[in-house]
Amino acid sequence: MKTCKSCIKEIDNAASKCPYCQSFQIWYKNPQIFGFIFPLVFIPVMFYSMGIWFNKNYPGNEHLFEVKEIGISPGEHNRLALNYLIANKSDTKWHNISYEVSVFDAAGKLLFVKTGQDYSWLVQPNQSSYLTIELDNNLKAEKWKLKILDIKSGRF
Ligand SMILES: [Zn+2]
Repeated sequence: MKTCKSCIKEIDNAASKCPYCQSFQIWYKNPQIFGFIFPLVFIPVMFYSMGIWFNKNYPGNEHLFEVKEIGISPGEHNRLALNYLIANKSDTKWHNISYEVSVFDAAGKLLFVKTGQDYSWLVQPNQSSYLTIELDNNLKAEKWKLKILDIKSGRF
């Protein structure tokens, strides 16, 4: 004989359920336990999936960004620094920008195209962030055009 874990009455050694108070003697034989196990498994899966659902791709979401050219300033080693202010009009954090800058002369002739990536760049939801791109100092360069190729998004 053993005693019930709940009401302490004597019950059969083989009993998995107490005949007096109906309480389960072995935790995994209690069907209610799945009410606890299920959320433990489901909640992390749900948060993981949310991360995937809320990640947006830049292509198709270009309208969420407003690019403003701030101007040029002297860069390092006699180079030019092109400065942009990029406004994020979404409720998602964006980071790791890939871009392409086309450089033209005064007559509008394309001189060269520079592509690059800034891993440290990020913009919080509904905020703006500066992007500085250094270029070789080309005396003929008069106009610049930035094209954002990609930005990664993240919820957190
Ligand atoms: Zn009992």
